[in-house]
Amino acid sequence: MALDPETFDALIGTIRRFVAQRLRPLEERVAEEDEVPEEIVREMREMGLFGLSIPEEFGGLGLTMGEEVRVALEFGRTTPAFRSVFGTNVGIGSQGLVMAGSDAQKAEWLPRIASGEIVTSFALTEPGAGSDGASVQTRALRDGDVYKLSGSKRFITNADKASLFTVMARTGGEGASGVSAFLVPADLPGVSIGKPERKMGQQGAHVCDVNFDEAPVPAANRLGAEGEGFKIAMRVLDRGRLHIAAVCVGIAERLIADAVAYATERRQFGKALSDFQLVQAMIADSKTETMAARALMLETAALKDAGQPITLEAAAAKYFASEMVGRVADRAVQIFGGAGYIADYGIERLYRDVRLFRIYEGTSQIQQLVIARETIRNGG
Ligand SMILES: Cc1cc2nc3c(=O)[nH]c(=O)nc-3n(C[C@H](O)[C@H](O)[C@H](O)COP(=O)(O)OP(=O)(O)OC[C@H]3O[C@@H](n4cnc5c(N)ncnc54)[C@H](O)[C@@H]3O)c2cc1C
Repeated sequence: MALDPETFDALIGTIRRFVAQRLRPLEERVAEEDEVPEEIVREMREMGLFGLSIPEEFGGLGLTMGEEVRVALEFGRTTPAFRSVFGTNVGIGSQGLVMAGSDAQKAEWLPRIASGEIVTSFALTEPGAGSDGASVQTRALRDGDVYKLSGSKRFITNADKASLFTVMARTGGEGASGVSAFLVPADLPGVSIGKPERKMGQQGAHVCDVNFDEAPVPAANRLGAEGEGFKIAMRVLDRGRLHIAAVCVGIAERLIADAVAYATERRQFGKALSDFQLVQAMIADSKTETMAARALMLETAALKDAGQPITLEAAAAKYFASEMVGRVADRAVQIFGGAGYIADYGIERLYRDVRLFRIYEGTSQIQQLVIARETIRNGG
């Protein structure tokens, strides 16, 4: 159920101030230290950000998709590592449980996920299974009341902070129908987490390996029936892709604002850069593409809230918005000239940060395959 418009507007106003006044001044520090300060995480908990998408009966805000993307958009106006702090609790880490969990599983975990007392992660990718997620080799072997879980996951966002993983593991034969989903507490024996990887961008958001060595996962922690895990993962990703599209639009809007401010201030040949039509063309292209991505993203969110399937639309929104923000970031570097390449101006950092959006939650090529498959299936 949607919040009443006044409450929602107040929430957006609070978030806008939080982003502008608390987060943006910390961008450089977070990039240098590769860590979001604990006091910021605490403030995020107090604002209810960890529970944006968790139903109200479990202590979350229960936002609609249309509302959630508006929040994601606001968080696009600062370094995307801040959103990652609560991003997995709102999206890929919790939504398998929200969609397919039993009443007992929800009651056990969702209140603590919503409050941010615990962090959740989503563990699909493996060294041998990336774009081909249905080929996971991590095994869950039934042994009485438990499944013995063995295998390795990699590039798992927030793994070093997570208390709970949604893990996709093989319980049956080859292919998607042999995959099941499990809620795996991080403190089970046999679960170990690797060191955070060094990355191109988004410092402050960590990814690690997660290893399982015969970890005894209670059978009661299976999400849905055996063999439903891959389907659950794909439904989770449909939603996640739309959320990522919103973040991309927010960052594009930030980059355009920064580029326009710089182009208006900086003078060459006796004029502001913004007076040159070749610079104006870059601003116009960035603005137009951002508006198009925003419209596609909002329309897809409305479809989801109307109960329609969004597999095609979410893939298209993520594909277009992530490619778009890459082009916008590239033009922003160009408008800043040499300063665009220098760390102090912050533009090169955002340029590196946005590169990830074309890769995770399905690469651009995988989105193209989904869009084509769905379009052909629908007869155009
Ligand atoms: C910072 C970061 C955070 C991440 N967080 C998570 C997380 O929380 N949980 C999780 O499970 N995973 C996570 N991932 C993993 C991410 O989803 C994968 O990296 C991504 O899906 C691509 O898989 P891969 O890296 O194995 O690349 P590959 O699948 O090896 O792909 C390499 C290249 O081949 C292309 N390719 C592959 N198959 C095809 C095809 N059929 N047709 C055309 N081109 C193809 C790809 O598009 C890509 O360009 C994260 C990754 C990063 C970098």
